[in-house]
Amino acid sequence: MVRSPLFSAAAFLLTASTAFAADVDGLKRDAWSWLDSQTEVLETANQNIWSYAEIGLAENKSSKELQDLLIDHGFSVESGVAGMPTAFIATYGDSGPVIGILAEFDALPGVSQAASPTPTIGPNPEAGHACGHSVFGVGSTGAALAIKELIAAGEIDGTIKLYGTPAEETGIGKVYMLRAGYFKDDDVILNWHPSDRNRASYGNTKAIVNVKFRFRGSAAHASAMPWSGRSALDGVELMSAGVNYMREHIKPDARIHYVITKGGGQPNVVPPEAEVWYYIRADTFEDVTGYFGWIKEIAEAAAKMSRTELEAVEIQSEIHEMITVRALSEQTHKNLSAIGAPKWEEQELAFARTTQLEFQDPFGRAIGSDDTPALSTTIQPLPDNPTPARASTDVGDISWFVPIGGLGVASYGYGLPTHSWPVVAATGTTIGTKALVTAAKTITATAIDLYTDPAFMERVKADWRKSRGDAPFKTLIPEGQAAPLAVR
Ligand SMILES: [Zn+2]
Repeated sequence: MVRSPLFSAAAFLLTASTAFAADVDGLKRDAWSWLDSQTEVLETANQNIWSYAEIGLAENKSSKELQDLLIDHGFSVESGVAGMPTAFIATYGDSGPVIGILAEFDALPGVSQAASPTPTIGPNPEAGHACGHSVFGVGSTGAALAIKELIAAGEIDGTIKLYGTPAEETGIGKVYMLRAGYFKDDDVILNWHPSDRNRASYGNTKAIVNVKFRFRGSAAHASAMPWSGRSALDGVELMSAGVNYMREHIKPDARIHYVITKGGGQPNVVPPEAEVWYYIRADTFEDVTGYFGWIKEIAEAAAKMSRTELEAVEIQSEIHEMITVRALSEQTHKNLSAIGAPKWEEQELAFARTTQLEFQDPFGRAIGSDDTPALSTTIQPLPDNPTPARASTDVGDISWFVPIGGLGVASYGYGLPTHSWPVVAATGTTIGTKALVTAAKTITATAIDLYTDPAFMERVKADWRKSRGDAPFKTLIPEGQAAPLAVR
């Protein structure tokens, strides 16, 4: 491995005990300049993954894009892990503390969008990166490459692992990788997520069960002899009516949403089979377990009412709420503040402003019509307590086994919701590039702190143990169940 000249300057700073901090700062600055020098490479990788817009478990080209980049930089890559062809682990180094970085790359169906500030179909008409996972994957990979440079140059002693984690949107990738035994031996895991603002993560996420209910009826001519048939779709509809009555009596933190994935072939055939796909969420695994039990009873009752059979209740995945680690959040906040928010050009601000004006809130007001910034230019203060959970992530499960730190970086117009077209639009432009480079720099800086400061590493672990407690990790996923082969 050729010693990188970029990092040689930092070595001269190591002189006396007081120089330790300066040396760490020097390492960070060198890593940041190295990342700046790699902007084009990272931008190209994002452009490719963003254009492929492959949905969960079908991210073949996207996963390969990141793997190739890592192999080119000397990582050893194990692909197709945990029974998922697009899951992979790239490793560099074999001593010292082990830090893992999470990369995601799955897109969302039905949210195709070009890199245009007005709604326009994008390169993949079926899907788009409406959660910004193309920039997520590339930013994380950038951090892993920068850390590898430091290890190769002998500036730090450590091991870096980049985890390619597929199908985050269905909570599958990390869950099944964890079940296969990955992540658990790492000292700390770092990640980030595209956001409308810049902040160190210090927040909860919701637990969730991802489950399909399949009803079986019997086919018959829907006009000539409807009395001979039993409609599986009736089962699905009665179930959903029941769940919608249940809603009034659930706690405000719970969320239940569904799509009908099979509803019959055509109207003149009584549908013999139907399927509805539910996400059931709440702030704790215990509550999700309770709501899931209630919904299962509603499904059984719906089968009785429609005289159909509840053929299968198939849990695809289930994930837990996030365990937060204050010490990691504080250090991430410090590093992000030193790096600063991305610096936006006029045309980037104008692009984001147009997406805000095009995207109306439920009351018909455009988001950017008042003094809302087009793109965030500030770093949010770290809250005293973890922010309440709104969404879920399969990162949550890993946090029950290893301390996890992360951050959000402004990657699209301020105030806009994820899983919407403006997110796809912005992350396919230089807005996304700047966000992913900022994220890579912050992750790299926090990793440098962890590698070089054993007392900090110990503080992180102690904080994690305190917030983790000793509750057993239980799961609703049946023992021995393999990862699904497709999302739907
Ligand atoms: Zn996401």
